[in-house]
Amino acid sequence: MSYREQIEVTAPAKINLSLDVTGRRDDGYHEVRMVMQTVRLCDLVRIRKISGTDIVLKNSLSYLPSGKGNLAYDAAVLFREKTGISDGLFIEVEKNIPVAAGLAGGSTDGAAVLCGLNELFETGLSEEQLRGMGLRLGADVPFCIMGGTALAEGIGEKLTKLKNAPKFHVLLVKPPAGVSTKEVYTRLDAMENIMHPDIDGMLRAIGEGSHLGVASKIGNVLEPVTVSMCPEIENIKKQMRSFGCEGALMSGSGPTVFGLFTDRDRAKAAYMHFKIGQYGGQTFLTEFFN
Ligand code: ATP
Repeated sequence: MSYREQIEVTAPAKINLSLDVTGRRDDGYHEVRMVMQTVRLCDLVRIRKISGTDIVLKNSLSYLPSGKGNLAYDAAVLFREKTGISDGLFIEVEKNIPVAAGLAGGSTDGAAVLCGLNELFETGLSEEQLRGMGLRLGADVPFCIMGGTALAEGIGEKLTKLKNAPKFHVLLVKPPAGVSTKEVYTRLDAMENIMHPDIDGMLRAIGEGSHLGVASKIGNVLEPVTVSMCPEIENIKKQMRSFGCEGALMSGSGPTVFGLFTDRDRAKAAYMHFKIGQYGGQTFLTEFFN
């Protein structure tokens, strides 16, 4: 019997070191090949057992759904369905990860709730079982459960754990534009000259533990699409480069830009520059987290 009544879990963000779209399935889903990397910037998720059978969600951002539609809530519903547990739950999510930003902010909250509940109720589900459950919430959720450095294929659910990528300091800057992932993929489908990133080259660079290799192989097939809707992305990349980053790229479907730095002082100087500028509220200095 468990006497534990509450648990706190961290829900870290991810960046895509490399993102390619390799096809489109009959059901409309896109097939991808992506190298994913967890970063230390995280949301905090607290879960407490309460009397009754309600799931009550408190979110630090009032504009996010406070029930169905919030991945933290949906994850709790799914977990109870799958395990037959019916205890009431109070879930508190402290959001630090920018929303709709290409950083898997919602997916990681869902993943944290699944993992947190598995611990709280001592249900003993394996990581693989949790990942299977997570896929029902979204294509990025299985990776958020696995964490670290990984290759994601299929629609994102076929995961191969990779050797930890060599560590970088990561500057994240999100321009204010909201970007719809669905629209980015629709526009990609209509595009003719698509530049595919060298995913195999990235895998080799990670295998060799080469900072230079990793930085030179970053690439995102969606970047030109999102840039056409949010040209500030190019300008942010240019500014990051002027501070001596080894590489700068948009993450996921955007619009967040990440800069990779081996030198902490340069990363800090770039962070200060953006922090006092127009994107200051959505500027973060973090690092790879394995
Ligand atoms: P990805 O990188 O996986 O495409 P993203 O970073 O682009 O994700 P999210 O921050 O996950 O996007 O938000 C996408 C949408 O998901 C938001 O518009 C929001 O309404 C919804 N959402 C549901 N639950 C959450 C949550 N817990 N945190 C943030 N957004 C959430």
